[in-house]
Amino acid sequence: MKEPGTAIVTGSTSGIGLAIARALASQGMNLMLNGFGDSAEIERERQAIADEFRVKALHSPADMTKPDEIIEMVKKAESQIGPIEVLVNNAGIQFVAPIEEFPPEKWDEIIAINLSAAFHAMRCAIPFMKARKSGRIINIASAHALVASPFKSAYVAAKHGIAGLTKSAALELAEHGVTVNAICPGYVLTPLVQKQIPDTAKARGITEDEVIRDVLLDAQPTKRFVTVEEVAALAVYLTTPMAASVTGALLSIDGGWTAH
Ligand code: NAD
Repeated sequence: MKEPGTAIVTGSTSGIGLAIARALASQGMNLMLNGFGDSAEIERERQAIADEFRVKALHSPADMTKPDEIIEMVKKAESQIGPIEVLVNNAGIQFVAPIEEFPPEKWDEIIAINLSAAFHAMRCAIPFMKARKSGRIINIASAHALVASPFKSAYVAAKHGIAGLTKSAALELAEHGVTVNAICPGYVLTPLVQKQIPDTAKARGITEDEVIRDVLLDAQPTKRFVTVEEVAALAVYLTTPMAASVTGALLSIDGGWTAH
């Protein structure tokens, strides 16, 4: 029987990444979790996943702004958990401000975590996948990989960048049994979105309720947030044999936002 593969999910201590990790574990995949947070809570979640789904699960505290730590995480997954089958580049942060007030160090941090980290992880994981002629790379992009919003310059630039990286990598790996796709969610009510509501209110001079109604959900014709489970289900689909021909795709899951 084929050894169960390992999935690395960056930024999987919260929100979308945690839901993807749990969904992949439910399919029998071993996991390398990653992300920040309270260490006792992370350990509780890691143990709960391992027990509930009877899979191996480790947590790497690698900081996605640090290439050396990213490389160490990928190598540790391969050597200590098992063959890397799936890499989900999900870790991400947001910062909302007009360009002329945007702190340059925030720009650098967003580009590092939301874009460059995916390059470093892919660079290290691809040789393992190519050698086995098998692999799935899933980049969690955003509707902001396809369209822009004001005051999110670094995030929009990084997400447009990850769309390009996804397409280039898909072409390079097309004949090597490795698919590379980007999932482009609309607004999902996670801590990343919750945190930007007060800043968006300030930047636009409106209340927080108005941000939810007139900015966030106004973009989504369905008038509801996308759920983490819906995003995770799409990620799981991309790991199945029936998704072998889906590569280089930017897959929207945004309640119709980018159909406007
Ligand atoms: P979240 O804040 O709930 O989770 C972010 C995760 O990234 C956490 O686990 C956090 O610890 C981790 N992280 C942050 N900085 C890190 C670093 N330097 N090193 C390692 N890990 C780090 O956010 P989320 O909404 O679940 O976002 C996950 C991804 O989905 C991001 O790439 C985000 O851009 C994307 N996304 C989110 C939405 C949304 O509406 N929430 C929409 C589209 C795309």
